[in-house]
Amino acid sequence: MEMYDVVVGGGDTAVSHVQRLVGIADRVTLVHRQAGLRSQFGLPGAVAEARNLGILLGTAAEEILGSARILAAGDVSSPLKMIITAVAQAAAAAHEAYLEIRAPYWAA
Ligand SMILES: Cc1cc2nc3c(=O)[nH]c(=O)nc-3n(C[C@H](O)[C@H](O)[C@H](O)COP(=O)(O)OP(=O)(O)OC[C@H]3O[C@@H](n4cnc5c(N)ncnc54)[C@H](O)[C@@H]3O)c2cc1C
Repeated sequence: MEMYDVVVGGGDTAVSHVQRLVGIADRVTLVHRQAGLRSQFGLPGAVAEARNLGILLGTAAEEILGSARILAAGDVSSPLKMIITAVAQAAAAAHEAYLEIRAPYWAA
């Protein structure tokens, strides 16, 4: 199964996700509304030049299409708009996503 990921945002969280995903996904696309990333670290050169990474700046995601299940976390999916909630949901969503694409050693 091929894995295509879209990361929306330009901050540290988005950049760290891109760094991890380019190592496991077939294709990663970073979408950010502004003209430049606002992450204080930026993308490391090796990641920025990864052949499976596409970067769309000045671009807003408007709609998520398709019938496949969508993993969501944070303010968009919870009435409790707090950092701890967003982070916990993100960890659970990331774990679910990983289980779907890989058979990790702890699930054997
Ligand atoms: C002033 C303020 C103070 C706060 N203080 C606290 C606090 O003390 N403690 C606490 O727990 N919580 C606090 N919060 C809440 C906390 O910031 C949020 O709960 C948390 O940031 C949610 O994380 P998230 O990833 O769901 O969303 P966000 O952090 O909002 O991340 C969403 C990202 O997606 C981007 N984005 C959105 N739409 C699009 C689009 N169409 N295309 C491209 N990019 C898009 C945004 O620009 C943003 O970078 C505060 C919030 C505010 C506004």
